[in-house]
Amino acid sequence: MITQLIRQVGVVGAGTMGRGIAQVFAQNGRQVILYDSVASQLLDALHIIASRLDREVEKGQLESKQKNICLQNIESVAGLEQLSLSDFVVEAVGENLALKQEIFDQLGNICREEVILASNTSSISITQLGVASGRPDRTVGMHFMNPVPLMKLVEIVKGRGTSEETLVVTREIAKSLEKMPVDVNDSPGFVSNRVLMPMINEAIFCIYEGVAVVESVDLVMKIGMNHPLGPLALADLIGLDVCLDIMETLYDGFKDTKYRPCPLLKKMVSEGQMGRKSGQGFYTYVQ
Ligand code: NAD
Repeated sequence: MITQLIRQVGVVGAGTMGRGIAQVFAQNGRQVILYDSVASQLLDALHIIASRLDREVEKGQLESKQKNICLQNIESVAGLEQLSLSDFVVEAVGENLALKQEIFDQLGNICREEVILASNTSSISITQLGVASGRPDRTVGMHFMNPVPLMKLVEIVKGRGTSEETLVVTREIAKSLEKMPVDVNDSPGFVSNRVLMPMINEAIFCIYEGVAVVESVDLVMKIGMNHPLGPLALADLIGLDVCLDIMETLYDGFKDTKYRPCPLLKKMVSEGQMGRKSGQGFYTYVQ
């Protein structure tokens, strides 16, 4: 099978998603080269992955030998060019078109011609990233869900130029990570965030307009709609900055006011309240 030829996987970005993606590849026997432009993010990522694996060992879900193998499979590097030997790359930097275009442009020059470049973007056009990479046929969306080690779904996003072969390989890789790939076409927010994010934004409007307090909004959706997590707790988990970026991509992409980001969301992000990762969002977290 072609995915067996993919031994070394490059992961760009070691934040909330990148570290989860690195972990699942490493746990499934791939060598991972993890790059972030911020050194402390790399250190945090390795520390967080190790503690997650420790918890699995404590619960008897993982042997300590497997934990050690997983950690040995991850190498953190200080330069993007160190992904030059990678057989497959997943990009997970912040949700910003210009930033991702720059990374794809560089990856297009650094990586071997046949290497597939996947983006974990939540909403940005894969077609545009394909143009930036110079290899639109081998550029694809591979949208993991948060938290990556626990969530089964991976949206496989076909850009205008993405080849059938790239889709086949990317689906196989997702399956090799024990994930379930689902095909979608390239459209702002794809399916997941086009449906989810307006709901989260509307929950924030409920707070902004004083319809209910945070806990009540979350309880209504948890108890009334059987959601495992309320929309505001989920927004904190995703990151309020990421939520705002996705709403802006939807708003820009569809030019429809139903996607306008709630002013409260903008205010919280401008004040550095990003949710769990900053310790403060709709709830307070002990870091
Ligand atoms: P994050 O802010 O936690 O992490 C982003 C990381 O990218 C940071 O560590 C940052 O230092 C790094 N970075 C920034 N510029 C860089 C560069 N030039 N080179 C290398 N690294 C760079 O963000 P996140 O939540 O992990 O989101 C990453 C991507 O995953 C986004 O596209 C987001 O939309 C998508 N995504 C997020 C979630 C979620 O729940 N947070 C879910 C699915 C997809």
